[in-house]
Amino acid sequence: MSKFWSKRTHELDPYVPGEQPKNTQYIKLNTNENPYPPSAQVLQSIHDASSGDLRLYSDPNADELKQAIADYYAKYAVEKNNVFVGNSSDEVLAHTFVALLKHDQPLLFPDISYSFYPVYCRLFGINYQMIPLSDHFDIQPEDYSRTNGGIIFPNPNAPTGKALSLQTIETFLTQHPDSVIVIDEAYVDFGADTAIALVRQYKNLLVTQTFSKSRSLAGLRVGFAIADAELIAGMERVKNSFHPYALSREAIAGATASIKDAKSFENNRQKIINTRERITPLLEQLGFSVIPSSANFVFAKPPAGHTAEQLYQQLKQQNILVRYFNAPRIEQYLRITMGTDDEMDTLLETLRLILAD
Ligand SMILES: *Cc1c(COP(=O)(O)O)cnc(C)c1O
Repeated sequence: MSKFWSKRTHELDPYVPGEQPKNTQYIKLNTNENPYPPSAQVLQSIHDASSGDLRLYSDPNADELKQAIADYYAKYAVEKNNVFVGNSSDEVLAHTFVALLKHDQPLLFPDISYSFYPVYCRLFGINYQMIPLSDHFDIQPEDYSRTNGGIIFPNPNAPTGKALSLQTIETFLTQHPDSVIVIDEAYVDFGADTAIALVRQYKNLLVTQTFSKSRSLAGLRVGFAIADAELIAGMERVKNSFHPYALSREAIAGATASIKDAKSFENNRQKIINTRERITPLLEQLGFSVIPSSANFVFAKPPAGHTAEQLYQQLKQQNILVRYFNAPRIEQYLRITMGTDDEMDTLLETLRLILAD
């Protein structure tokens, strides 16, 4: 607290990221990073971008990257003016809140969801309502039948890993033709259908994605959004009122190379999906109840006699980090990111020993 802080600063409730320990002794299964490194091609592009040209500003429109993303989604008739890029999808989301979701009526999002949404609402002074997930942790369109200034949720949802069908997303779009519906697809590549397929048809849909998870580039900080050109133009107005050169030369080069390197992307995400499908029944054999996941993590409840918080601590003592949320309705769950198969085997063995104790 300081008398020099603005009123808004006093009122903030900042996002608390998962731990990023400085030492590397941990098996890190707590922040949904990709366990596999970016491809040699991507690293080479980043390296090449770090030349004498760094004295020059980067392209404020990041045209090369926007075009690569449009080409990648050409089958959905995405064009360059349907693409917005930003310095991480958190930043893309921030611009979305200001440009499209701040209205007199409340913004709606699930009570159990990405915990950054209420943080942005406070920062930008946006009125919001949290809509409880069903008892089975489902997002149900009928629960959102009320006046609103917009709706946002991740698909698959985090931290549950549960995905909605495109049909259900269409229900939202048709029931709220005068609201922008934002689908945060941070985890879509691990097993859900992308709503980008619906962007041509629905002028009120905006889809965000990130290079951080499925593309192994959390440290590069690149995200994007796809929507009707009018929504994108609104996003550009906000971005160019805040940070015109949002993406560095390295970020533009690395992200563009990643989009063009379809082979290692496909390979990687399939490996992670396979690991998830292998690990889920093994956790169940240990007595966990695991919510079927479409993401690169599972949300799992420890067997009777063990609390999630205790288990989180015990794993940490054994140098394994998972995510524990001390929050209503989910304090009995652990969110476990998919690591390499070796890392997951170590996790299972460690859990076996802890639970046998
Ligand atoms: C990780 C995550 C993001 C943010 O991704 P960055 O591009 O790294 O900022 C956004 N939404 C959800 C649901 C996430 O889990």
